[in-house]
Amino acid sequence: MYCIKCGKEIGANNSFCPECGAKQTPTYKEVFVRNGISEKDFIANINKWFQWHPKAANITCKFGMDTAIGLLANKYELNQFVIEYELFEHNNENQYGLVKEESIALMKKSSKEFMGEWKQSHPNVKVVDWEGGTHARGYTVSHLMGGFGARNRLNIYILFKFPRNKEN
Ligand SMILES: [Zn+2]
Repeated sequence: MYCIKCGKEIGANNSFCPECGAKQTPTYKEVFVRNGISEKDFIANINKWFQWHPKAANITCKFGMDTAIGLLANKYELNQFVIEYELFEHNNENQYGLVKEESIALMKKSSKEFMGEWKQSHPNVKVVDWEGGTHARGYTVSHLMGGFGARNRLNIYILFKFPRNKEN
């Protein structure tokens, strides 16, 4: 195998490059595709994966969204989620989790503002990555009944980590 940093050929079992000292950490990939299950169950499955992989660390992720527009325009839903990660030798000190935060509001907030507030109210949680978006809900019951009219919903997906064995 070759050093991931300097490219010199090194022994297959070297965890550090003898030339440059770089740690040779392989990256793993897990792809989640939502196949007909509810978004809630999909997120629950991802969180189960995190629970079963306490050695996963240095996580990066990619959110895949369904933003179909149509009569049922309330679509801003997670349909694919890709995690890239390394494996620690021991359980790492962080617990990872994915949440969906919803805010039905008349578009007074941007997803960025929402995230700023979320971070403030979760001071011990470190956000790894997040994705947010809005969609029109032009066909809500209240709209049909002549109520508040077309509402907009703000959906935020947050991948976060927090110290294990600690509250929030
Ligand atoms: Zn090297």
